Amino acid sequence: MSILSDRINNLAESATIKMAKLGRELAAKGVDVISLSLGETDFFTPDFVKDAAKKAIDANYSYYTPVAGIPDLRKAIAAKLKRENNLDYNFDQIVVSTGAKQSLANAILCLVNPGDEVIIPTPYWVSYSELVKLAEGESVFINTSIDSDFKITPADLEAAITPKSKLFMFSSPNNPTGTVYTREELAALVKVFEKHPDIYIISDEIYEHINFIGQHTSIAEFESVKDRVIIINGLSKAYAMTGWRLGFSATNKTLADAIDKLQSQVTSGTCSITQHAGTAAYQGSLDSVKEMQVTFLRRRDLVYNLLKNIDGLKVNLPAGAFYFFPDVSSFFGKTAPDGSTIANGDDLALYLLNTGHVATVSGDSFGDPNGLRLSYAAADEKLIEAISRIKYALEQLK
Ligand code: PLP
Repeated sequence: MSILSDRINNLAESATIKMAKLGRELAAKGVDVISLSLGETDFFTPDFVKDAAKKAIDANYSYYTPVAGIPDLRKAIAAKLKRENNLDYNFDQIVVSTGAKQSLANAILCLVNPGDEVIIPTPYWVSYSELVKLAEGESVFINTSIDSDFKITPADLEAAITPKSKLFMFSSPNNPTGTVYTREELAALVKVFEKHPDIYIISDEIYEHINFIGQHTSIAEFESVKDRVIIINGLSKAYAMTGWRLGFSATNKTLADAIDKLQSQVTSGTCSITQHAGTAAYQGSLDSVKEMQVTFLRRRDLVYNLLKNIDGLKVNLPAGAFYFFPDVSSFFGKTAPDGSTIANGDDLALYLLNTGHVATVSGDSFGDPNGLRLSYAAADEKLIEAISRIKYALEQLK
């Protein structure tokens, strides 16, 4: 009998973290591995944010904070939501956490009872389905493909809804596909939600600022559903602060209070120094964010033009985030030079790592076995070299 609970035994290890680990192990043996596997930017945290953290250390902000975050930070987030998203939230509707990931877990655990259905379009970020498992909910997937730019239609949504549907969960811009829903597309989905007033909506907007189609639209901007939307966002991607651990949720007061209660028993407030840095970030200029956007747009075009020329890859032009998710299914069933068969995406990702020395992540853990996620959060020269290695490795498959 296992000493571990069924809860943990049923949970999958994060595939992105696993691939990064395999890549590091190979690199430790002296192999020159290029990692396109991790979801973090290669920029530095802006200086004005670092300065605020240094000041907070010197001012001895070393103690427990309110569980939901210091009031200045929550007010700065409410002001950001008004300024950048034209959304009205009181600061007491915002709960700060140790990252968007914790905010997602908080919201799911506060909403989902065993057996409740959570509708998730595929491909989705790896943790979504695992967090639903933790809450003993049932994930109901809406499959999309590269042919529809990985978007669901109102009819797809309607067809997935049952009397047990409790929650709909998505990210736009999306990880792993970079897909961004336009205002019109969201408006069409909102029409469906209007017919089903008991379904909550988690809108993961962590890639809000890495968006190449102009203004980001939050589904919370639609008044008819706003009260049942939980916006998830944080510092990780926009301010290159993945290690600082700060995320937040914005939602109705009843749910915000429940999230505060849950967090009070699990982690308490996030790091006091990070909260002061976060206050500066949300009160400060978006210049560094805009610079990052320009760089990512250039890299997206660079990588797109390189990937387009690889036979057998089906690739679309992502409108946001910093990933490509080409369809690689035409390589399944092919034979590698060592005689092994590439049966699926996991085999292909391992082959690219061991033969091409490029770390990627197979689509399986994102709920789409045909895809392969490539992150372009790397310097241009590395990207050019990595794609040329991938091209060469794929050409060896017969
Ligand atoms: N949501 C999505 C879609 C992500 O890609 C990530 C990180 O990769 C997160 C949430 C988690 O962000 P954080 O580092 O703030 O926990």
